[in-house]
Amino acid sequence: MRTIVMKFGGTSVADAAAITQVMALVRRAIDAGDAPVVVVSAMSGVTDRLLGLAEAASRGQADVVHDGLEELSRRHAETAHRLMDNAAGPIAREIDQEIADLRAVLQAIEVLRHAHPRARDRVAASGELLNSRVVAAAMHEHGLPAEFVDARSVLMTDTSHGQAVPLGDPTREAAAHHVVPLVRDRRVPVLGGFVGCAPDGATTTLGRGGSDYSAALFGAAIDAAEIQIWTDVDGMLTADPRVVSAPRLVRQLSFGEASELAYFGAKVLHPSTILPAVTRDIPVRILNSRRPDAGGTLITGTPAADDRPVTAIACKRGVTVIDVTSTRMLMAYGFLRRVFETFEHYRTPVDVVTTSEVSVSVTVDDRRHVPEIVAALREFADVSVEEDMAILCVVGENLRQRSDTASRVIGTLAAFPLRMVSQAASRRNLTMVLADSLVPDAMQHLHDELFALAGTR
Ligand code: ADP
Ligand code: ASP
Ligand code: MG
Repeated sequence: MRTIVMKFGGTSVADAAAITQVMALVRRAIDAGDAPVVVVSAMSGVTDRLLGLAEAASRGQADVVHDGLEELSRRHAETAHRLMDNAAGPIAREIDQEIADLRAVLQAIEVLRHAHPRARDRVAASGELLNSRVVAAAMHEHGLPAEFVDARSVLMTDTSHGQAVPLGDPTREAAAHHVVPLVRDRRVPVLGGFVGCAPDGATTTLGRGGSDYSAALFGAAIDAAEIQIWTDVDGMLTADPRVVSAPRLVRQLSFGEASELAYFGAKVLHPSTILPAVTRDIPVRILNSRRPDAGGTLITGTPAADDRPVTAIACKRGVTVIDVTSTRMLMAYGFLRRVFETFEHYRTPVDVVTTSEVSVSVTVDDRRHVPEIVAALREFADVSVEEDMAILCVVGENLRQRSDTASRVIGTLAAFPLRMVSQAASRRNLTMVLADSLVPDAMQHLHDELFALAGTR
């Protein structure tokens, strides 16, 4: 018996028809001899809607909050009705209870006219908490031995609301208590992704798209044989299908390639998903819930034996470039330390870095603290800021051996002014920064050259 984690994203659990398909996939896994642990996202669009309600509450828009709650309650109740004869039973009460809890938090936000991160997390978590209950109840009614497990009793985190950091050992202990015995008993635990619990008992969330990360954390905590990410595309594609037309499926990826692609914008995988998988060397598979036989992408510790020059390309849009020039003629000893300490102080991660004799350029994705950062840097340097930029990243284990690839990539992009170029120490990626408005054309052009026309991959 193989224990596997099966994570279903928002579109894979968007309505009764999608959940029916999920049940068929879980049944198929059981029939094949696997013991699945199911992790579900909120129904598609629900997390955005919930965060919108928290905003509305903080502006005192009671009507908007009221209507939003009605709509959420109706959507989940109707889905339950479509899936179950017994939808007026316990599941109706569970939905009502969750909506009542949510209403109480939104009312508190309304009174305070402020959505504290702790309250906002509790609101955002409702999507997964509601949906995992609906999916567990539907499975149960359809003869699958499902058991709802509140993810907050398993996924332990710190108190960084909105971007909580998981605590490995406490999560492993909790999983040994609440998940492993069910699996051993041939039952199917069903948990919400994205949500966790802080040491003070508060509900936390792992950041947008975090259900993938939850799935990997649960997988690592129970030593699963495989972590499956079921979504709405066939797997990791050679480029973002929303930017490039007709990207191809990448059948195999190394952990390193997958995490670079996820970090630089391949939304199909939350950037932290690979970490827990690497720690326990657990393969991750990305699969299409509507086309389960499409093959998917397998991500493991071993690079694919393939001579493809490049594995895939990704882009991270809307980033800001900050140029910091030393006010002395040369970069003095300690200059870089002061620059990076400033970013650290404002907890703002830096993505791409390039340096020259007197200046350093960095990109940041999180713009919230840019004004303060710029003010602090100006105490010892000249600073300029350029917004609406983008990172274009070319990823592949073979970049290491194929020294011609970098010149080919840059040559292909000759018509697009590149603001920064950098190759990481891993030599697994080549990163370029350019104006965001150029991304669609630059990506398509590069993709045609590297994948379509050359017939590689
Ligand atoms: P889920 O709700 O299942 O977690 P997401 O919307 O988070 O799904 O991620 C899947 C989406 O990621 C795809 O529909 C696609 O638009 C986008 N995406 C971006 N880059 C890539 C890529 N390189 N390969 C596959 N999908 C990608
Ligand atoms: N529902 C959460 C979000 O939309 C988490 C996820 O779907 O992965 O961000
Ligand atoms: Mg996702």
